[in-house]
Order: sequence, then structure tokens, then C-alpha cells
Amino acid sequence: MKKIWPDGIKCGVAFTFDLDAETFWFSRTMDSKHSVNLMAEGSYGPNVALPRILDMLDRQDLKSTFFIPGWVIERHTEACREIVKRGHEIGYHGYLHEKSYFIEQENELIIKSKKIMKDLLGVEPKGHRAPEADLNKETIELIAKNGFEYSSNMMDRDCPYLHKTGDGEYLPELPFNWLYDDSSHFFFTVQEPSRRPIMPTSIVKEIWLEEFEGIYEEGGSLTFVLHPWICGRVSRVKMLEEIIEHIKKKPGVLMGPAYEICRKAKEGLIK
Ligand SMILES: [Zn+2]
Repeated sequence: MKKIWPDGIKCGVAFTFDLDAETFWFSRTMDSKHSVNLMAEGSYGPNVALPRILDMLDRQDLKSTFFIPGWVIERHTEACREIVKRGHEIGYHGYLHEKSYFIEQENELIIKSKKIMKDLLGVEPKGHRAPEADLNKETIELIAKNGFEYSSNMMDRDCPYLHKTGDGEYLPELPFNWLYDDSSHFFFTVQEPSRRPIMPTSIVKEIWLEEFEGIYEEGGSLTFVLHPWICGRVSRVKMLEEIIEHIKKKPGVLMGPAYEICRKAKEGLIK
């Protein structure tokens, strides 16, 4: 892998959280909003899992990124304000966690959600992650036009890279993969078709640390995509904390919010 990092950095690691809450179920089917149980399961994210995760991040003195749909900010405003208060980054993640079939619709959702973030949280999002990482052909251009600093949507590389946009500027991409997504390993529902066995944390920890060691050697980046209602259970927060402690022992790892990793990578890539 080509060396991309400046300042002696060996690799980048971002623990990012998609706080989908109830909207996770809307993107599967809108009928789910009539299910008291599914809505309750979604609300576990901001109400129970999030405080546990924020305390763990504080213990580790680690800043992170939370991609949050606008609807979740409106419904769980205090929980989202707490994220900002603890010094974490807030990123864009749709309004209702919806797929946009048309670029005009996508543009409206960005404008609407950015206004919610500004009005309720006082923040301007730097990062864009589409719900389900589902993009239109014109989305990258749209991300740049709407003033985002980076995109975290693609699965085509193991390190940050730059999209060249129409105005001749460069937009960093922070890629990830389903392998680093907690839902791939832990998501379970009694609804068809996604009934899967739940993986033990020991196996997932082993897979993720093995990936980290390889990415560290190659000089890439590792972006974890975590959903508080899934990874915020007691055993899984413990697993995340052990992984963070392991990574901290390696010299030269830039671990922090996604925007910091993108800024450093851009610096190295443009040199
Ligand atoms: Zn999501």
C-alpha cells in the first residue's frame, strides 16, 4: 500500500457510531413504526446504550463521531446534546434513515437535517454517511456542494483517499466495510429475513484485532461502524473497550473522530 500518512503516523482508526435509534426499523419497512416492540428496541440506543458508550469513551479519553438522522435529533434532543457536550463529532445520516432515489430529494434531506443540527445542537456537520451507505451517482458531488469536509460511504479501499470534485477540490473519503460493522456480527431480529445466530464477542474481537494488525502493518485505516442499540449491550461495550486499550498500545496510531483522520490523510495525500 502506498504510504499516505504524514507526521510519522502509521495508521488511522475511527470508532464511528450510527445513532439510528427507531429509524433503523423505518428503513427496513415503514410498517415497523406501528410496532411498539421494535420502536422500544430502537429507543434502547439513545436511552440506555448511549450513556454507557459515552462513559466508556470518557474513560478511554477517546473522541468519536456519531452519524445521526435528523428525526433522531428531534426526538432524542437531550441525548444528542450530551454527545456534543462530551466533545464528540456529529455527522449527517439522512432524516428518517431513508434511501434517496433522486438527487433532488437527497439535497432536500441534507438541507433539512443540517438545519435541525444547527437549531437543536448548534453544530454544522463535517461528515456525510448515507443511510445503509446507499449512494446515487451524483451524491459525492452533492456532498461537496453542501459544504461537507469528507464522505464516509465507500467500501473500495483500506485507506482514506480523495474524490476529485467538479470545482477542482478534493473531498476525502473514509472507507469502511461490513466486516467492521457490528450489525454484521450481532444483529438479530425475529422478523424475517434476517434471523441469524448471534456471534460471541470473543470471536468478533479476534476478527477485528486481526484486521487491525494487518491494517497497521500496511499503513491504512480502520473505520468501525457501530450502532448503539446493537453494540451498547454490556458485553459488547466491554469488548470495544478492550479493543481500544489494545490499539492504544501500538505506537503511531491516529485514533479519533473521523474528521481528524480525514484532515490528516488529506494533508498526506495532497503533499
Ligand atoms: Zn444507519
